[in-house]
Amino acid sequence: MKILFLGTGTSTGVPVIGCDCETCRSEHPRNKRLRSSVLVQTQDTIILVDSCTDLRQQALRHELSSIDAVLYTHPHLDHVAGFDELRAFCWHRRDGLPLYAGPECMENLKRMYGWAFASSNTYQGYIRPEPHTHDGSTPFMIGDIEITPVLIEHASVQTHGYVFRHEGKSFGYAPDVKNIPKDSMPLLANLDAFAMDGLGADSHPSHLSVAENVELMRQLRPKQGLITHSGHRVEYVACSEILPDFMSIAYDGMLLEL
Ligand SMILES: [Zn+2]
Ligand SMILES: [Zn+2]
Ligand SMILES: [Zn+2]
Repeated sequence: MKILFLGTGTSTGVPVIGCDCETCRSEHPRNKRLRSSVLVQTQDTIILVDSCTDLRQQALRHELSSIDAVLYTHPHLDHVAGFDELRAFCWHRRDGLPLYAGPECMENLKRMYGWAFASSNTYQGYIRPEPHTHDGSTPFMIGDIEITPVLIEHASVQTHGYVFRHEGKSFGYAPDVKNIPKDSMPLLANLDAFAMDGLGADSHPSHLSVAENVELMRQLRPKQGLITHSGHRVEYVACSEILPDFMSIAYDGMLLEL
């Protein structure tokens, strides 16, 4: 299983418009972050996680021309605003494009992009979504990848992280997290790799700080712990130095092979 980090930034991206802080002025390529999204792929299956604001740029950068499904974490705009770019992934398929989401997220997608879900939308050149609402806990398959939804606390919206399993390997992804409910902790323990929200230096009402991320990672003990969805308070070089050995900061274009 391969995981490609298409974007690792928070909702503003990094650099932030109008900011001249050290990170935003940095020439270091790992201090440039598009909005958060990953591609999880095997020989047979390609899953895009979220259709973020920067989807077009990400698809062009990585020559992404085909996906099998989109899996949504939650309906905040930075995770869904690239919905319209999904058109390009429908042009080459006869059937609709499978979209997987929890109940509240699917409801929001249908409200925000109602025209795409309407029965009158039959034009082959447009997005033809094929909605699949999961129940938030029961594992399901997309192609040859098993997916377990994990309930996460984040702002006031129902949010899911996911564990992907293929040929004995496991990858967890939870880009927006304020806290992990007690019942969800065992589902995220001892993974081969786990990428989780680490917004910045300070405590935030709806996101984990880097320090809070590290504390949770120490409890969950993945073989490889990764910080993603970071803002400009996370300067790549300085922040990397303070992380424990099993952890690192994910960066745009990072490829994990499990
Ligand atoms: Zn976000
Ligand atoms: Zn800045
Ligand atoms: Zn969010």
